[in-house]
Amino acid sequence: MPYSKVMPIKLIETCGAPQEFGEPVIIRSALNFTGVLPDVLHRPMLDLRISVTDRCNLRCTYCMPREIFDKNHVFLPRPELLSLEEIARAAAIFVRSGIRKIRITGGEPLLRRGIEKLIEKLSSLRTLNGEMVEIAMTTNGVLLSAKAQALKEAGLSRITVSLDGLNEAIFRRMSDSNVSVRTVLEGIEAAQRVGLSPIKVNMVVKRGVNDGEIIPMAEYFRNTGIILRFVEYMDVGSTNGWVMDEVVPAQEVVDLISARYPLVAVDANCKGEVASRWVYADGAGEIGQIASVTQVFCHECTRIRLSTDGKLYTCLFAEQSDTDLRALMRQECSDETISRAIANCWQKRTDRYSEIRHEAQQFPRNKIEMSYIGG
Ligand code: SF4
Repeated sequence: MPYSKVMPIKLIETCGAPQEFGEPVIIRSALNFTGVLPDVLHRPMLDLRISVTDRCNLRCTYCMPREIFDKNHVFLPRPELLSLEEIARAAAIFVRSGIRKIRITGGEPLLRRGIEKLIEKLSSLRTLNGEMVEIAMTTNGVLLSAKAQALKEAGLSRITVSLDGLNEAIFRRMSDSNVSVRTVLEGIEAAQRVGLSPIKVNMVVKRGVNDGEIIPMAEYFRNTGIILRFVEYMDVGSTNGWVMDEVVPAQEVVDLISARYPLVAVDANCKGEVASRWVYADGAGEIGQIASVTQVFCHECTRIRLSTDGKLYTCLFAEQSDTDLRALMRQECSDETISRAIANCWQKRTDRYSEIRHEAQQFPRNKIEMSYIGG
């Protein structure tokens, strides 16, 4: 579906917030004829990722390396977090701005008290054309078996669980924790039992650490209805010590599995889907590849991120934000002013980090940590 240019028209009202947003527009008129808000590269703002906490009960080496996020690390104090009410208000404004999917992330979202209440509120939202807004969550699964039923009842549509191996020692090395693989598998089973399907399992592959788990993971999830997705190890944030040599390209994973269980590539479910899709020729199910390093997909990136303390980020590899929704909400600005801030943030968006990664790597960058803005 083509995306067209927007036509800004007259400003209605302002609140106390200074006019740092430049040319005032009204959100509704900022939406093009397909009801979406395009950025500079004509990509629509369709997916909102909300980080509801910067805390986690694991220390995955590619996301929250313990040497940085140690016992002295200062997490955001509670008053600085968006309250559940503020998150729900912001989400409703985003949906009126064309958002169709909301993904709850973190840190580890199941650590956020009252998360079910938030999901209940979000699950009552309707898109501009009256459809249910899809509410998904990405979790490490450690608390999932205890919470699956309540999440389902609250209205969660689907869930993605991170699991980087079945071998206990390798899993503990990747998560830098003493948590057992069994705990996460029980969480996945509980999610399946209560019907939080389709369930996706994301495995970040790091060469020399867990790449030996590719086949065991593929075999474990064949014929289960669960979609296993292999994630290329990424240079997210500024603390995980990323090197290209530790990346296992998606094509290498496909070739490895296909040599044993032939795979057939299939089309994406929708525009902007992050994972490329493959099905087993023998009907044993589906796998996916999230290849942000070797098969970049910035040209179709429809994602905006709301950080734990209310700032907007337009790329996973962003270095800063100039839009603070928490400040606007706590200045008692109107929904219209907040939606204008969202429109201005997105409409000037030019992000395509994965396309320029290698040039970008020449210059020091202070990228925001993934645990703060959600994966
Ligand atoms: S690098 Fe940024 S722009 Fe590209 S796909 Fe990822 S989040 Fe989107």
